[in-house]
Amino acid sequence: NFAERSEEQVSGAKVIAQALKTQDVEYVFGIVGIPVTEIAIAAQQLGIKYIGMRNEQAACYAASAIGYLTGRPGVCLVVSGPGLIHALGGMANANMNCWPLLVIGGSPERNQETMGAFQEFPQVEACRLYTKFSARPSSIEAVPFVIEKAVRSSIYGRPGACYVDIPADFVNLQVNVSSIKHVERCMSPPISMAETSAVCTAASVIKNAKQPLLIIGKGAAYAHAEESIQKLVEQYKLPFLPTPMGKGVVPDNHPYCVGAARSRALQFADVIVLFGARLNWILHFGLPPRYQPDVKFIQVDICAEELGNNVKPAVTLLGDINAVTKQLLEELDKTPWQYPPESKWWKTLREKMKSNEAASKELASKKSLPMNYYTVFYHVQEQLPRDCFVVSEGANTMDIGRTVLQNYLPRHRLDAGTFGTMGVGLGFAIAAAMVAKDRSPGQRVICVEGDSAFGFSGMEVETICRYNLPIILLVVNNNGIYQGFDTDTWKEMLKFQDAASVVPPMCLLPNSHYEQVMTAFGGKGYFVQTPEELQKSLRQSLADTAKPSLINIMIEPQATRKTQDFHWLTRSNM
Ligand code: ADP
Ligand code: MG
Repeated sequence: NFAERSEEQVSGAKVIAQALKTQDVEYVFGIVGIPVTEIAIAAQQLGIKYIGMRNEQAACYAASAIGYLTGRPGVCLVVSGPGLIHALGGMANANMNCWPLLVIGGSPERNQETMGAFQEFPQVEACRLYTKFSARPSSIEAVPFVIEKAVRSSIYGRPGACYVDIPADFVNLQVNVSSIKHVERCMSPPISMAETSAVCTAASVIKNAKQPLLIIGKGAAYAHAEESIQKLVEQYKLPFLPTPMGKGVVPDNHPYCVGAARSRALQFADVIVLFGARLNWILHFGLPPRYQPDVKFIQVDICAEELGNNVKPAVTLLGDINAVTKQLLEELDKTPWQYPPESKWWKTLREKMKSNEAASKELASKKSLPMNYYTVFYHVQEQLPRDCFVVSEGANTMDIGRTVLQNYLPRHRLDAGTFGTMGVGLGFAIAAAMVAKDRSPGQRVICVEGDSAFGFSGMEVETICRYNLPIILLVVNNNGIYQGFDTDTWKEMLKFQDAASVVPPMCLLPNSHYEQVMTAFGGKGYFVQTPEELQKSLRQSLADTAKPSLINIMIEPQATRKTQDFHWLTRSNM
């Protein structure tokens, strides 16, 4: 409490750290340097965890995942100019995903502004496009107010990124303790409910549906709506489909999950309830031919501006997903009803699920070497702990992995998301590991990376080893982006010509030993080429709780997905 010590002086860095502490910031990810080092030290002194990363982009991805996983923003702390610019990728990604995030950037001293100061850049303006709120406090005394406002803006309404700019001269300034006014912790967001008449209409549309479908998005995960949504599913026996990060709100192995018949479910549903999922590219915009032209959408979202995007919804339920789902339950409960389990719709969906699952199983059972994606993921799934976090990115690695790897808990899957960002994996894994350590010790993080995706933030392996985080990295290695070459083709190709003129842009060096990145820092590394080697190394990695590990899994360089019904949208990210 500053107020009681009126004679005392306090540094700007301490005022900033205290403001973060008051707002319940638990984790700061960043890279220190002039002028923010003192802020990181002051934060640690107040018991905030500081995780030093190797690139600001990864630091920002990590901080944004904290926001999604905990509902309060993580902080990304960066230096001026280039440091802040590297963080823009993370801010954009957070904002696109509707995840809370607070970025704090140092900037040059105010009296050098516009003079060509070291790392000078119009930071507040630059961040505006990537945030809900971007500002510089007018004085050190204003810092607690501006940080409260930034935290509040990040979690109220549709969550998103916020930026606070800290000029270098604030950091070392000594101010009278009594001049710093106490600002209270901002309350959790107020809960809004949908209009009663809209809830009644929605309930009657659902009851009259012939082929209903619930779509569970990452908004439902963020809203902690798992209990109410699971109740809705089970009480009324409704088929549901999770979006990639909506997986686990209701467990993937639930009998009413129709994930394995995704295209069919979307294409023939006559009523679709969207719980925190936008009708963007991930859901094919809600338009034919992926949907019936007259499908009735019921949209549940906290953001009014989202309602009616791309389609004209039958009903809009503006409000918090958890609260609105409870409203729906109450309304549906008024007259006895459930969706008939013997309906033709259920039969169609179940048949399609069966045939899709059989097709994947067949690919998985192929004994040929190098392995294909399905073989790899089936073996991983066999050993995957039920409570683990699954982080995933890459093209086929993520798309195929998602269909095989199951989530049983909400907010336990993190991937390239709405923005389709590659390079998020290691930052997300580090954030998930911090959350696991502090909130559910014993939970592991399995980070499934394509070899190209791994390259974006590969040096964060050092961060993982430095903090000894419970992460198992799987690099599914096909020597390239989408596809690569085997060693022989590679050698042939380079015999006569210079690499830059002949190597296809998708190719990466064949047979790269990415596991050595892990052993370089003291973790365990495995290079695997067969299902047996994969099983064994995974078993050892899971048993070894003392060290992080990386399993480099060589697969067929030309391996692809199984044939899709809609080949023109193979890169559907779902
Ligand atoms: P997905 O990628 O899973 O389809 P999106 O990111 O497209 O999910 O959609 C998530 C939606 O959830 C956003 O439109 C966002 O406004 C909404 N949302 C976030 N939090 C809440 C909440 N507490 N209540 C209702 N809607 C929410
Ligand atoms: Mg690859």
